[in-house]
Amino acid sequence: MSFEGIIGQNRAVRFLTRAYEKNRVPHALLFTGIPGTGKRTTALALAGLLQCQSAKGTVACGICPACKKIDSGNHPDVVFIEPSGSFIKIAQIRTLRNEFALKPFEGNKRVAIITDAHAMNSEAANTFLKILEEPPKGSFMILTAHQVSDLLPTIVSRCQQIAFAPLSPALIAVKLVTDRKIDRHTADIAAVWANGSLGMALQADVKKVAEERNQLIERFETLSLHAMHSLLNFAESLAQDKDNLLNNLEVLMVWLRDILFGKLCPEKILNKDLMEKIKEISARHSVSSLLKKIKIVQGAQVDAQNGRNRRLILEVMLIKLCRE
Ligand SMILES: [Zn+2]
Repeated sequence: MSFEGIIGQNRAVRFLTRAYEKNRVPHALLFTGIPGTGKRTTALALAGLLQCQSAKGTVACGICPACKKIDSGNHPDVVFIEPSGSFIKIAQIRTLRNEFALKPFEGNKRVAIITDAHAMNSEAANTFLKILEEPPKGSFMILTAHQVSDLLPTIVSRCQQIAFAPLSPALIAVKLVTDRKIDRHTADIAAVWANGSLGMALQADVKKVAEERNQLIERFETLSLHAMHSLLNFAESLAQDKDNLLNNLEVLMVWLRDILFGKLCPEKILNKDLMEKIKEISARHSVSSLLKKIKIVQGAQVDAQNGRNRRLILEVMLIKLCRE
């Protein structure tokens, strides 16, 4: 596991490798970003580099005993903590505290990777805070979380925060083509749907995603205020598919943006396989009405992310879109 395989996070990787070169890797790091942007992979790469016995520059050698143990997930001085059930519990943090109180088993460093740190319950978070306040010598703690606001401010303030940006559809599509041998058209569709998450794209049933995109756009294009029943049905079915809601909203947002691009710069269209349809629809809309529609969907994306009443958000969004 090295930094080389991490895509789309150049800023984060640059920060970490520079800190390593200067021997100033912070004792507590907080990686934030949506799932599937490489936070855990980067944490593991950093742990590997810190533990490697013969790193060349900022690249772990990959062959020393420490590297071998990291690769097989068996390095005694690299500890993983992740939610057990819905929470990270106090017992897990106590175990970490006890392990950190001992000297490292092998080298002189210990690394704890705490994924989904926002899942710490309040007891666990308070115990963890005590470790952060007096980190044992040679210890490194790497936390991952969706967003800073999910964590206790007292924990955040003791960590160096590094934001992991959502990946562009272009980067995701290239990775899908190379890693999963998917044709470029399907990869483009899945990359839009993935909404910045490479992890989600790599795990998705891309054929199903492509079929669902077609259905989604077809239903969307037939909506009208004169057929309120089917509009409300559409809102309900989107709301019920809650795990994919943000993805589906992104598909609709990109669809509207493509229609806008159909008027202004067709080469930027992402749903390239629907080029003819896009051009035909874009001829019927004005730029200003498309811009308003895009804004309406973006507003719904923000509201949906904040987890408010999904069905209401969608009903309001669709009615506003039909009015435009
Ligand atoms: Zn090594």
